Amino acid sequence: MTVLDIPELALVALVGISGSGKSTFAGRHFASSQVLSSDAFRAMVADDENDQSASAEAFDALHYVAGKRLRAGRLTVVDATNLQPHARAALVRVAREHDVLPVAIVLDVPEALAWERTEARSDRTFGRQVLARMSRDLRRSYGQLAREGFRKVHVLRGTEEIEAAEIRYERLF
Ligand code: ATP
Ligand code: MG
Repeated sequence: MTVLDIPELALVALVGISGSGKSTFAGRHFASSQVLSSDAFRAMVADDENDQSASAEAFDALHYVAGKRLRAGRLTVVDATNLQPHARAALVRVAREHDVLPVAIVLDVPEALAWERTEARSDRTFGRQVLARMSRDLRRSYGQLAREGFRKVHVLRGTEEIEAAEIRYERLF
């Protein structure tokens, strides 16, 4: 079992390529109301969870809701790839604005496995090259997360480690 220590009030950023199992992990470990997913916010603002042209508006709304939740002292999980420094910077900013610790959980599975899963899905239509680019972004992300301001960076490598992970909440006071 891999125990992931997380402050009981945190902004948790899941980080991983498409098909790495972020939404599955979020569904297993957190209440649905704690999880803000980029897909859901794209659907909210554009009626289409895959409409990438709606991303800016979707993330704007996601950050707004995250801020509302953190202000109320509620743990919040962001289910998005979070592979780009600017995407993560926005999350660190929201967390800091509310005096909440930003935490990253990286899900790292082999790209071939993620592709296999992605190909099997009817709700994902992007090509292999898009996934390859995500993998490059993930590799670059490793050295960045701590210096970007994430107070804890938990890395789960491979499906077994992901399966065996358990969250343990740390009391703040
Ligand atoms: P995206 O970034 O595209 O939203 P994701 O990281 O959220 O992807 P999931 O939707 O959680 O990935 O998982 C992708 C597919 O892989 C799903 O069909 C899911 O059922 C399957 N999957 C996820 N985790 C596992 C697992 N541990 N074992 C087998 N299949 C899994
Ligand atoms: Mg997902």
